[in-house]
Amino acid sequence: MNLSFDNHIHTIYSGHSDPMMTVGNIIKYSEQAQLTQIAITEHSFDWHLGPRGNLELIQKELAAVETDIRVLVGMEIDPDMKNWGRLNFEDFNKDELFPVLVGFHGYPGMDKGWFEKVHFTRRDKNRIYNRWSNMLEKLIENPKVDVLAHPGRLIMQNRIIDEFSGNILRNFERFAAAARQYDVAFEINETLLNSIPTEKLWKSYRNVLEVMLANGVKLSVGSDAHSPDKIGRFNRVLEFIQPFNINSFDFLTINQGEQNETQIHTHRIARCDRDHSDTRQYAAAGAE
Ligand SMILES: [Zn+2]
Ligand SMILES: [Zn+2]
Repeated sequence: MNLSFDNHIHTIYSGHSDPMMTVGNIIKYSEQAQLTQIAITEHSFDWHLGPRGNLELIQKELAAVETDIRVLVGMEIDPDMKNWGRLNFEDFNKDELFPVLVGFHGYPGMDKGWFEKVHFTRRDKNRIYNRWSNMLEKLIENPKVDVLAHPGRLIMQNRIIDEFSGNILRNFERFAAAARQYDVAFEINETLLNSIPTEKLWKSYRNVLEVMLANGVKLSVGSDAHSPDKIGRFNRVLEFIQPFNINSFDFLTINQGEQNETQIHTHRIARCDRDHSDTRQYAAAGAE
């Protein structure tokens, strides 16, 4: 399978990306990588002007660029750690942003980032796992959420869990049923796959994907690129999904985001309609 879309890309406005990641450059690199659809999904944190101000900067930059690539403008938003099921930025209308990714970057109740090496006690680990799992279940029901960003990454680090099996996998059965019901996609994230700490976790994470597929949950593929060389690079994703018979119908379509995209890029949509009139729905998922 040739993946020609990347639904998770960061810009300079994250405050921690490569300085080359301007919107114009991202589009240029995406064209070089022969992508057909990208989603710019900046973080809701770290932004010097806040999520709203930076979103406007991204949209302004985008308006100045001509491209044949479908460019979606979404956001990667953190959960509100105090109000379970809510996002830490919700001040937008559903037709303004697509896709909305929800991703954990810190341990609930711990004030520690996922990337930090921490020696948690068994009790801490249980508490983190339970909070994470209860929050995630409620987040799936949040109508503003479209995609679960790097699902499970948080609990793979610092040995919160050792593998996806037993009760953990049964929790994912519940997440999958809810994701199907609320039309939330499961992300296959290249950066996550590159940071899985053990072989046991890597192998058993495929059990999670199996559960998602069995429940008919849509997939979304993203590089989570913070630098140009990562855009549209899916070596680990392809390796990960290789045992599964995945086709283009399993991927997120742009149906949910059409309105948003139409508003921002009317001229581009008109051109895409001419080019892909009958294959539009699935071509948008970019899987060939
Ligand atoms: Zn993230
Ligand atoms: Zn990200």
